[in-house]
Amino acid sequence: MSQVDRKFFVPIAKNAYKDVAQVIGYGATISAPHMHSYCLSLLADHTKPGASVLDIGSGSGYLTAVFGLMVGETGRTVGVERIPELVKRSIDAIKQTPAGHLMDKGRIVVHVADGKLGNEEGAPYDCIHVGAAAAELPEALVQQLKPGGRMVIPVGTDNQDLVIIDKLLDGTVKKTIEIGVRYVPLV
Ligand code: SAH
Repeated sequence: MSQVDRKFFVPIAKNAYKDVAQVIGYGATISAPHMHSYCLSLLADHTKPGASVLDIGSGSGYLTAVFGLMVGETGRTVGVERIPELVKRSIDAIKQTPAGHLMDKGRIVVHVADGKLGNEEGAPYDCIHVGAAAAELPEALVQQLKPGGRMVIPVGTDNQDLVIIDKLLDGTVKKTIEIGVRYVPLV
């Protein structure tokens, strides 16, 4: 996170380092730094160099850039975001960070699409992060997780839980509820 300056990802640069979520337009928010770091820590064992990462509801692109740096030149990070303007803005922002060269080399890509469907093309993934709250766990995302892989996803409507989905090596899915959270909805 220290390599990716938040000032490129927020609308008001002077607020970049406040530990709060900030509105970025189109009903989206960039999560607070403590939520970004919390999710990254839950996913740390699955974002080693060479790993493949899917970041759903990539929004500002901040975490997409950090994931890109974590998995490096041998890894691959796919961001999926439904709002085209945010995708364009996130690509411009990522290019201004040390993750920019990974985008130039195609190791980081961001698509405009419905994240509930995941991204079949790059599947299966070692790590799936979802940055918007799903009413129910999207089946396509569970399917696109590698055996041994982990997904972190907020689930719920009014009351949301941050849920960890571990796909065990035998394909069994294990669900752990972490903490109560508040995210914008996955629509
Ligand atoms: N991790 C991002 C979170 C952005 S807010 C960040 O910190 O910047 C959640 C994002 O999910 C919003 O940008 C919203 O447009 C997007 N989103 C909501 N439903 C979606 C869907 N079905 N497919 C893709 N993106 C979606």
